Amino acid sequence: MNKKLMVGNWKMNGSLAANESLIKALLAGLSAPACQVALCVPAVYLAQCQALLADSVIELGAQDVSEHETGAFTGEISAAMLREFGLRYVLVGHSERRQYHSESDAVVAAKAQRALACGMTPIVCVGETSAEREAGQTEEVVKRQLAAVIHANGHCISEMVLAYEPIWAIGTGKTASPEQAQQVHALLRAQLEAASKQADRVHILYGGSMNAANAAQLLAQPDIDGGLVGGASLKALDFLSMMASVR
Ligand code: PEP
Repeated sequence: MNKKLMVGNWKMNGSLAANESLIKALLAGLSAPACQVALCVPAVYLAQCQALLADSVIELGAQDVSEHETGAFTGEISAAMLREFGLRYVLVGHSERRQYHSESDAVVAAKAQRALACGMTPIVCVGETSAEREAGQTEEVVKRQLAAVIHANGHCISEMVLAYEPIWAIGTGKTASPEQAQQVHALLRAQLEAASKQADRVHILYGGSMNAANAAQLLAQPDIDGGLVGGASLKALDFLSMMASVR
């Protein structure tokens, strides 16, 4: 496994001015980070962020990609278009996309395939709702979500990043305990290992109200290879402190 990976997901936040000051503050505080770092920004800001991050230690990512290659899909953005902005990563299957845009497991798998075909690393998000956790279905749900991606991407799965994001923990301030997160990460790791000999290359990130106070404990778990950070990645000092807690 390479260094841990910390990814900021800005969601639908930012402005030209705010992005510039956030990125400048992050770069000023990150000379030789102990982890890999990426920012997934709104698509309209890709060109701005590409320029601000040029030759820096921070990689650029997008928050979604079309499952189609090209054509009459108004409002959609293809993997090839994203790649023109020097992107390394793209989120696929974030729970907000699954929930508000009815993205099925099959659509998420197809999006991952498009990203891989264009030389980008999909960050595939999986996670259960609180009702599913309470019904004891966590394992079944995350395994089903991952199985669809493995089925569609076969030998390429070692080229992706996986993010376990319990939906009940996203933006709610409720974090999975390190033990709860580790338990799910271990079973996702086992599923990847059963599918690929190179599964140890796959970073499995935790996401869901990760912040400066809880990051160190979560990141100390053996199968937590980094974080996918929403709200706290918008505050430079918080995100820097989380990156500093990576060992
Ligand atoms: C996310 O958007 O992926 C996320 C984990 O958000 P938050 O950190 O705000 O819970």
